[in-house]
Amino acid sequence: MGYDAVQYDDNNIFAKILRGEVPCHKVYESERTLAFMDLMPQSPGHILVAPKVKAVNLLDIPAKNLQDLIADVQIVARAALEAFSADGVSVFQFNGEAAGQTVFHLHFHIVPRYAGEVLTHHASEQVGEDVLEQQAERVRTVLAR
Ligand code: 5GP
Repeated sequence: MGYDAVQYDDNNIFAKILRGEVPCHKVYESERTLAFMDLMPQSPGHILVAPKVKAVNLLDIPAKNLQDLIADVQIVARAALEAFSADGVSVFQFNGEAAGQTVFHLHFHIVPRYAGEVLTHHASEQVGEDVLEQQAERVRTVLAR
């Protein structure tokens, strides 16, 4: 019982995306961060923001890396709000399997919210690559301004 800290696995899917071994629909990249569309969005425009530093989740990332990461989360959240003309944006993040974490490389969920619309279940339904690419392009356009 209790929180069971997992070792960082270099072969987790986000590590592969960060190394460019697995494709993603990229919306934003900085020296420290990569943001890309979630394959199984909980609402249209769901984006993931991941640090390049190896960290399983919020509990093991060095505190010195957090300031830059949360600043990038804010950049992407603002851009998503505008790109999708959303009414709000939920930002969430899970630590440990019991908390709903399924990919063990730290990431923040940026989930645009639309008045009156409920979220679909976490990681349940895959959206077409063409739709994700169009959505990524909308965010990139906002960020390029
Ligand atoms: P967690 O439960 O770890 O907070 O969330 C992992 C998220 O990653 C889920 O929302 C899931 O839809 C998403 N996801 C899982 N595999 C992939 C993938 O290969 N590519 C992308 N872009 N998202 C993924």
